[in-house]
Order: sequence, then C-alpha cells, then structure tokens
Amino acid sequence: MAGKTLVPILGDQLTRTLASLRGQTKADTVVLMMEVRDETTYVKHHKQKIALILSAMRHFAAKLEKAGWQVDYVKLTDKDNTGSFSGEVERAVKRHSPDRIRVVEPGELRVREMMDAWADDFDIDVEILPDDRFVCSIVDFRNWADGRNSLLMESFYRDMRRRTGLLMYGDGPEGGEWNYDKQNRASPDEDMDPSPTPRFEPDNMTCEVIEMVQSECADHFGDLDRFGWPVTSDQADEALDAFIAERLPEFGKYQDAMVHGQDDLYHSLLSTSINLGLLDPLDCCRRAEQAYHAGDAPLNAVEGFIRQIIGWREYVRGIYWLDMPTLRSANALQARRALPEFYWTGETDMRCIADCVRSTRENAHAHHIQRLMVLGNFALIAGIEPQQVEDWFLVVYADAYEWVELPNVAAMALWADKGRLASKPYAASGNYINKMSDYCGDCRYTVSKKTGEDSCPFNSLYWHFMDRHRTLFEKNRRISRVYSNWDRMDADKRKAYLDTAEVFLKSLKPAGKTWARD
Ligand SMILES: Cc1cc2nc3c(=O)[nH]c(=O)nc-3n(C[C@H](O)[C@H](O)[C@H](O)COP(=O)(O)OP(=O)(O)OC[C@H]3O[C@@H](n4cnc5c(N)ncnc54)[C@H](O)[C@@H]3O)c2cc1C
Ligand code: SF4
Repeated sequence: MAGKTLVPILGDQLTRTLASLRGQTKADTVVLMMEVRDETTYVKHHKQKIALILSAMRHFAAKLEKAGWQVDYVKLTDKDNTGSFSGEVERAVKRHSPDRIRVVEPGELRVREMMDAWADDFDIDVEILPDDRFVCSIVDFRNWADGRNSLLMESFYRDMRRRTGLLMYGDGPEGGEWNYDKQNRASPDEDMDPSPTPRFEPDNMTCEVIEMVQSECADHFGDLDRFGWPVTSDQADEALDAFIAERLPEFGKYQDAMVHGQDDLYHSLLSTSINLGLLDPLDCCRRAEQAYHAGDAPLNAVEGFIRQIIGWREYVRGIYWLDMPTLRSANALQARRALPEFYWTGETDMRCIADCVRSTRENAHAHHIQRLMVLGNFALIAGIEPQQVEDWFLVVYADAYEWVELPNVAAMALWADKGRLASKPYAASGNYINKMSDYCGDCRYTVSKKTGEDSCPFNSLYWHFMDRHRTLFEKNRRISRVYSNWDRMDADKRKAYLDTAEVFLKSLKPAGKTWARD
C-alpha cells in the first residue's frame, strides 16, 4: 500500500512476525514503541514485572533497528512523554504525518477502547488486526461458545487438538485418551530432583531499566535482586530448550506438588516469555510433541503441557473477551471482606501462605497450584472481595495481563462468575494442601486439628464457606455429598467449626493502605 504507515507495537507484542509488520516495507513504515506511565502505574505492578516488560521492549526495538526498521522509541522518562498510549500516538502522528495506523488488537478491553477512538480522535485510517499469535481468534471462540449450555474447557481443548493436529493419531487422540490428568497428581516425594530453571544475568540494558524502576517505582511491591527473566527471544528459546530437555519429563507427574522453598519444581516458567511474544505458543507445543515422539518425555507430561497452552491459555482468553466487562465486577458469592495484609507482607503463621507470598515477592512468580489452591483457595473460602484479589494477582505476577489474570482469578479461583468456567468451586481444606505439599509439618497450626485455636484455618474456613453458600451449592451434583457429610456431624461439632472460623476471620488484619492502586 502506498504512503507511510505508523505501526504501534505494544509491550506484549514483541514478535518479529507480528501481523502488523507482515507485508510492510521498511522504507514506508515507522514502528512506534511507547513506555507510558499510565500502563506502569495504573496498578502498582511488581518491580520485576515492569523491569521485564521495559527491558524486553528495549531489546526488541534494538533488534528491529538492527534489521533495518525505523523505530520511534519513547522512553518512560522522556521529557515530553504524555504518559498514555493515546497521547503518544497523537504525538507520533504529528511527528511523522503517516497515511494510516496499523496495529494488532491489544490484550485488554481498556486499551481496545482507546484504540477504537484513534481514527476519530486523530482523523486517520486505523486498521486493527486480529492477534493471530493465538490459535483461536476472538470471533472463533464466540462462535464456539454461541448457543452452548456449558462452556467446558475439555470440549474446547479437544477442538484445539483437532485444529492444530497436536498429539493426534488419525482422528483420535494419541495414546487413546484426550487427557492424562489423573496421572498428574503425585505428591512430592524423595524422587524429585528438578534441574534449576535457567536465569539470565541482566546485561547493561536491563541494568539501566532496573535502576530506573528502583527510583521511579520505589513504592511498588516486590524485590528486584533476583531478576533473571529471559528478555530476548534467544534467551527465551534457551529457557524452552532447557525445560524440554530437563524438566518436561516429570512436569506432568509433579504438576500439582508444592515444596517449601523450592519455587519452580518442574514448571516451565515460560508464561512471561509466551505472554510477551518472545515465544510462539504453538512452537512450544510442537517442540514438546517432538520430545514425546523421540521418546524423551512421556505422554502424560507432554499432553499436560500442551493442554495448559492450547487448552487453558486459549480458553481463558476466549472467556475474557466473551464476558468482559461484566467479569470485572462479577461477585456471585457476594464476598465483601478486605484483602488481608499478609498477602503483601507474607507475615502470617500459615506456612503455606507465607511461602507462596515469599516466592511471589522474590520472583514475581508462584506456580499454578500455589496460585489456585493456596492463595486463591484462601481468598475464596475466607470470602475476600474479588476485585481486591484480582488487583493483587494483576500486580504481583510477572506474567499477569488482564486477559489471562482475570478469568483465572474471578472465574477459576473465586467462582465469581457463578460457575460459568468452573462447574464447582476450587474450595479445599488443609487436607488437600497437606497431601500435595510439605508445608504442614512445620506449621504452627495443626492440619489434623479441625477446630480450636491451633487448628488449621483452612479446615474451619472450608466448612464456614460450604455452610454459608448452602443454597447455591447443595443442588450441585458435584458437591452435594459434602452436605450429607456436614449433616451427619453432630450439632456441637458443626458449631465448633463455625465458631472457630468466625474467631479466625475476626483476627484478619486488612491491608492498611491500598498497595495495588493509589
Ligand atoms: C488465580 C490464578 C491466577 C493466574 N494468573 C495468571 C496470569 O496472570 N498470567 C498467566 O500467564 N497465567 C496465570 N495463571 C495460570 C498459571 O498459573 C500460570 O500460567 C503459570 O503458573 C505460569 O508458570 P509456568 O510458565 O511455569 O507454567 P507451567 O506450569 O509450566 O505451564 C505451562 C504454560 O501453560 C500456560 N498455562 C497454564 N495454566 C494456565 C492457565 N490457567 N491460564 C493460562 N495459561 C496457562 C502458561 O502459558 C504456562 O507457561 C493463573 C492461575 C491462577 C489459578
Ligand atoms: S496446617 Fe494449614 S495453614 Fe498450616 S501449612 Fe498446612 S494447610 Fe497451611
């Protein structure tokens, strides 16, 4: 197309084959990259998260420039920086007088609404392209969901397997089963010996960003000392290779295990790279599949990994665009309690929570079961207000973008969408945490004690939760048995559970200031 094109590339669109660059000639294109204060501070993101995104952006811009693209890069501390995407696009339109803007759709509704206004605001043609780094487009997901009573992830996942051909054997699944999750629930044991996840020493460019974040975002949550995330696609490739060779074989078996002080176990820690665009999700799956065919990793591990990516990851993105903006205010359980302060400080005698918050603060990461069955589960059964929990999850994880964080928190962990995503709430007592971790042995609470001062708080809170939501859940076939057990207990025991939970809930100290937002 004749004339000059302005191609804004957002911080999580760091992909050389991005749809907006494809078909463009270098001579007629100005790439615009913007570090803007609104995005770094609209919630007070973990310092590592901001450093990761800005460093990855700067490395990506340098790579584009080296390849001959003209890149207009606006730094956070540039004097005239307006602090917003729209402000910076407006300034760039004035600087370059382009004939049109070509951009890939963003991951967040808030930003999509900004983009939709650009054509009118700046009186210019704006082409917003689908983000085809996802296997399933927003339109395809809507079509899939249309008219269905149930939006079960499993049936969506099977469609994605057929569509991609991953782990297919003719028309059916490799090995005869679609899902090997039952083999993926081992408790931690002495056979576990995971290789360390590669960490990447910050280079000069990253050090400069880290220094800036230290001074510009001093009051944000989180430590920067252990920063070692991949910030380029080469580093992300290296991390993927190491995962496939060293940790994928046991990834499935120990997927749900938790061990005190061992933060990564057999997890890939690739979500930051995939979400930024440094790794292609389908490529990750194909490389895992090759390891299976080469006999280097078992089917339960490879299927489990692929399911997380073309199943869960694609599915939650579809749910986000289907259910926004209502998902953001959903609160089906009318949960109103304030977020306890220990989510920020880690100062609690509950050893499981303290360890998950420590990992979160030090690494800007916690693995899936820590997020779902410790931090999410506690917030669910203690009745913490979803919007406060959502803000926390958006702030603290380096891989957190609203499209993926919100459905996982609101719908999966907190059942705020009334079971559209999860047919039953992920509520569990201390028993589950004890089975899947080594947390309980040295905890000041006693996991086998059900009531009273030293009893594990998850035990009484679990029954308090079930009791207060009885009318909603007792007709749910997947949990009705819980109520038969509850009714079989004598009245004194039931009262002791509820009283213990009440005393504990009263002792919770709410976060004193709004750590997440100003
Ligand atoms: C309450 C809660 C909040 C979460 N918030 C986020 C978030 O903000 N950003 C984010 O990327 N993931 C989020 N997840 C999903 C998941 O916990 C992380 O993707 C995972 O822990 C990242 O670590 P990993 O790369 O080692 O994952 P692995 O365990 O190695 O899994 C492999 C890959 O599968 C994908 N994946 C796995 N589970 C999910 C899922 N439920 N949704 C989307 N992708 C998935 C990720 O790309 C991940 O890299 C959340 C889960 C819960 C329960
Ligand atoms: S006893 Fe309860 S609070 Fe303590 S670590 Fe176990 S589950 Fe967590």
